[in-house]
Amino acid sequence: NVTRSKMPQYPGLDRWILVEKMGDGAFSNVYRAKDSTTVYGEVAIKVVRKFEMNSNQRANILKEVQIMRNLEHPNIVKLIDFSESKQYYYIVLELCPGGELFHQIVRLTYFSEDLSRHVIRQVADSIEYLHETSGVVHRDIKPENLLFYPIPHTPSKNPKPQQPGDEDKEDEGEFIPGQGSGGIGRIKLADFGLSKVIWDSSTMTPCGTVGYTAPEIVKDERYSKSVDMWAMGCVLYTLLCGFPPFYDESIQVLTEKVARGQYTFLSPWWDDISKSAQDLISHLLTVDPEKRYTIKEFLDHPWIRGTDEATTAAA
Ligand code: ADP
Ligand code: MG
Repeated sequence: NVTRSKMPQYPGLDRWILVEKMGDGAFSNVYRAKDSTTVYGEVAIKVVRKFEMNSNQRANILKEVQIMRNLEHPNIVKLIDFSESKQYYYIVLELCPGGELFHQIVRLTYFSEDLSRHVIRQVADSIEYLHETSGVVHRDIKPENLLFYPIPHTPSKNPKPQQPGDEDKEDEGEFIPGQGSGGIGRIKLADFGLSKVIWDSSTMTPCGTVGYTAPEIVKDERYSKSVDMWAMGCVLYTLLCGFPPFYDESIQVLTEKVARGQYTFLSPWWDDISKSAQDLISHLLTVDPEKRYTIKEFLDHPWIRGTDEATTAAA
């Protein structure tokens, strides 16, 4: 196997056999890998170059891992294992064979309203779990950090296993989003590198001393949650039309547009998109965080409650 022979060897990573590179970050390479003990099947491994990082950056990696350790949700990438060598951190993750949602937007230009709803609902479920159950804000929601576990287009003889690691490679049909019974499959939120714990999920209290919490801390918590809601608005906008709500060649101009919340539902691209979807987006892309929708309000909006099951099941 040509690809495998070109794979780098990392000390202390003997259990996992690297198969191919799937992506990179500033300090990391992400690989698809196989478990030599066959317990997990295929996984993704984020190999972080510890030796290039200062102590602050290293601490952030440990925080990312610590946050992921406490999360358990079908729409959040699971942490399988964490280890380190002298020079590297190895973050072993549940594999999302479909890759980034970003690439599907590029491939399809834009998503239908039903497919967009199917996607954003799953993102919203993960956010509801983070904000309401775990006391975590993600702070980096974007199409590059939304991965997915595809449901194959070609019907297979054997029922499709849902768990990564169980899948039978030969059985995987070509993936066509929006077709087949699953819409696009299961969306998984990844990359907790910028995430923050806002309250202690074991005691259900804000981080810090119980009863002595200042109002600005309580407000801080609310503001940080609303950051994820804004980002969800940007993702939903992008899904529906294929380009982001805020864009400019110049960073200064772009920053100014964002600060003012200056975006439009640009014609002709938005002409055929429902007013209900636009209404929902406008409640997310609201500059005042106090007025911006919370995750509860989002989930309660008629466009979200819509007819997702009926439409995706019929496809
Ligand atoms: P960074 O903090 O550098 O952005 P990420 O955790 O977002 O690191 O990983 C970088 C890229 O690697 C992702 O955008 C994605 O393309 C790929 N990737 C990360 N985790 C997985 C995974 N579990 N399954 C498949 N691909 C992944
Ligand atoms: Mg990322």
